[in-house]
Amino acid sequence: MTANGERDMRIFPEDGLKSVDEQGSELRLQAFLTEWAHTYPALEGLARALQENTLPHAILLTGPTDLTSQFAGLFAEGLLCTGAVPPCGECESCRQYRAGVHPDFHRVGEQQTGPVKTADIEVLQTWLSRKSHYGGNRVYILQHLDEITPVAGNRLLKGLEEPLSNVLALMTARSSSAVMGTLLSRCFVYPMQHRESLAFEDAAVARSLTALSAEVPSTTGETSGTDATDLIIAYFDRVLQWVQAWVRQPTRVLNLADDFLRIFSAAHVADGLHVLLAVLRDMIHVTVGDNRRLRSPSLLMQFQATDKLPLSVWLRAADIVQETLTRHRAHVVPQLNLERMCIRLCEVRESV
Ligand SMILES: [Zn+2]
Repeated sequence: MTANGERDMRIFPEDGLKSVDEQGSELRLQAFLTEWAHTYPALEGLARALQENTLPHAILLTGPTDLTSQFAGLFAEGLLCTGAVPPCGECESCRQYRAGVHPDFHRVGEQQTGPVKTADIEVLQTWLSRKSHYGGNRVYILQHLDEITPVAGNRLLKGLEEPLSNVLALMTARSSSAVMGTLLSRCFVYPMQHRESLAFEDAAVARSLTALSAEVPSTTGETSGTDATDLIIAYFDRVLQWVQAWVRQPTRVLNLADDFLRIFSAAHVADGLHVLLAVLRDMIHVTVGDNRRLRSPSLLMQFQATDKLPLSVWLRAADIVQETLTRHRAHVVPQLNLERMCIRLCEVRESV
């Protein structure tokens, strides 16, 4: 998974990446990484490194460009953020970052397209030669490391061989195989592959759907394969509509709880929460541009541009539903549990 050279390129505690409000913010950034690692398991290593204060100086994220680019951007923002829940999007640092004027952030190359050229690396070197504006971390993003010109690559290599403390390089490539070997040997590689076996979660969803379809007798008295499939699609559709109601009219909190109980009887709350979780995870994937393994069949057709929410909201929503499932297993009264879930979901929705 990692491809470091003979020299250890990690940042050690004595020159570790400093978070602006020291460990508090780091712990919260940890939660952000852990949530991502749920779907992209290679990031567990990154979460661990952050926890142990051994973040590598040079990180290479490989995978679909939209995905690696989105994650790199959020991670960079999170590393610079001084807010309560990084990346918070609200603190001065996040505002500067989003406006593209953060002095401790640099993006290599123009408009993120085309191969990185020598001139781009020269601009990077000038930026690197400056001191941190806020006295904390400095982060740069370099995309398409697999398309860098050889001359530019060699220039970059010098910088990677002599890393500066508190400077983190976040690089992306579609795959590591096309990256120059010398560069690759200086990076820690995190392949952003979708968790191969979402087996446990998929099995829980499958079990729930089987339980739900057994509950409703088909009109012919027998459940044929087609009927069962139709039923599964029908459940996903109703949950999708429920999620849309939450997105569009979050103030209808108690109606939402009642609606949920109308779709899934009290006996099937856990099954319903599994399906809801599957839909939310799909939304997380769609939001980061990864549509490869969606579990809700008609999600892409039903969700419209107006239903778009920031990734942080989908991540938080999935968290809340997961916690609701845990409370359900601890025998909290379904109605109360669902109402609490809906209230929290609506708070998250209204914070946007
Ligand atoms: Zn912030």
